[in-house]
Amino acid sequence: METQRLTAHDIERAAGILTSGGLVGIPTETVYGLGANGLDPEAVHAIFEAKGRPQDNPLILHIPDAGWLERYCRDIPPAAYALARRFWPGPLTMILPRRPLVPDAVTAGLDTVGMRCPACDVTREVIVAADVPVAAPSGNTSGRPSPTTAAAMLEDMEGKIDAILDGGPCAVGVESTIIDLTVTPPRLLRPGGVTLEELEEVLGSVEVDPAVRRLMAPGEQPKAPGMKYRHYAPKAPVTVVKGEPGCTAAYIQLNMEEGDGIICFDEYRHLFPGHPVETLGPAADPAAQARHIFEALRSFDHLSVAGIWAQSPEDAGIGLAVTNRLNKAAGFHIIRV
Ligand code: AMP
Ligand code: MG
Repeated sequence: METQRLTAHDIERAAGILTSGGLVGIPTETVYGLGANGLDPEAVHAIFEAKGRPQDNPLILHIPDAGWLERYCRDIPPAAYALARRFWPGPLTMILPRRPLVPDAVTAGLDTVGMRCPACDVTREVIVAADVPVAAPSGNTSGRPSPTTAAAMLEDMEGKIDAILDGGPCAVGVESTIIDLTVTPPRLLRPGGVTLEELEEVLGSVEVDPAVRRLMAPGEQPKAPGMKYRHYAPKAPVTVVKGEPGCTAAYIQLNMEEGDGIICFDEYRHLFPGHPVETLGPAADPAAQARHIFEALRSFDHLSVAGIWAQSPEDAGIGLAVTNRLNKAAGFHIIRV
């Protein structure tokens, strides 16, 4: 099929493709999503086909405002509305008990569903025009780094989806924070643009799922099914180096081999002449690092690098989301210096 390029002027067209069962690439503030009518099991199956996504990895339903929560969820705790008031539209997904009209294809048979209201006007307008919730995972081929531009999504999805709506580069750059509100205390399943510290301000105590910070042991079941899969990985193996930035840069400089690629903070780029280098932004700017991490990982697939070394930010704030994506891209191959 030919993938149509749409713009903010094509809201009705995008909505029409969705309601007739098609697939549309949608911009959001986090990453580009691969959207389908979330009430149409066949359309939802087509998402799994296009991505090569394992069937037991559920999708998130995107809605235009918290007023739609009651349509698809039941037993909604007051905390959900408190979070929606503070963070929606925005990069936060809440796991809530689902109503029976949400198809098994979306939830992978779970009795809960992930709900999110994206902070991207055109995408919310498309959802309102279609008048259906849009099921959307990240718009990459399963296992690859998520796309933060329409061009990056087309690398993976050209010819496999009906259309893509170009909304420019994503402002956050890593996927939404996922918080499970069906357990006490609420549990952080995936760090993202809304930070753990911000969630704690609204919810009090929040438990962090162990899979956020370490590799799951064989047989161990993470609460977000997606966390058990190899993720975000470029073709070359990645080594993450953690510690004070001056020390991690020096460690990489000493240990890198000819032909290795480097992911570093802006201040250290000059230390790696003759190597392919991707910069994440200044060492002290984790929001910039979040915006650049996936493009940095993707860019090495266009070069033939033997290995990739990456300086790692600290775990605080949105840095927790950046380190989580880097660590997963590296299969948790982490060196502390
Ligand atoms: P992505 O496709 O990259 O946006 O991933 C969506 C993430 O949401 C995956 O990690 C899923 O496992 C997770 N997810 C979606 N629905 C649920 C749910 N009901 N319970 C737990 N995790 C979920
Ligand atoms: Mg994904």
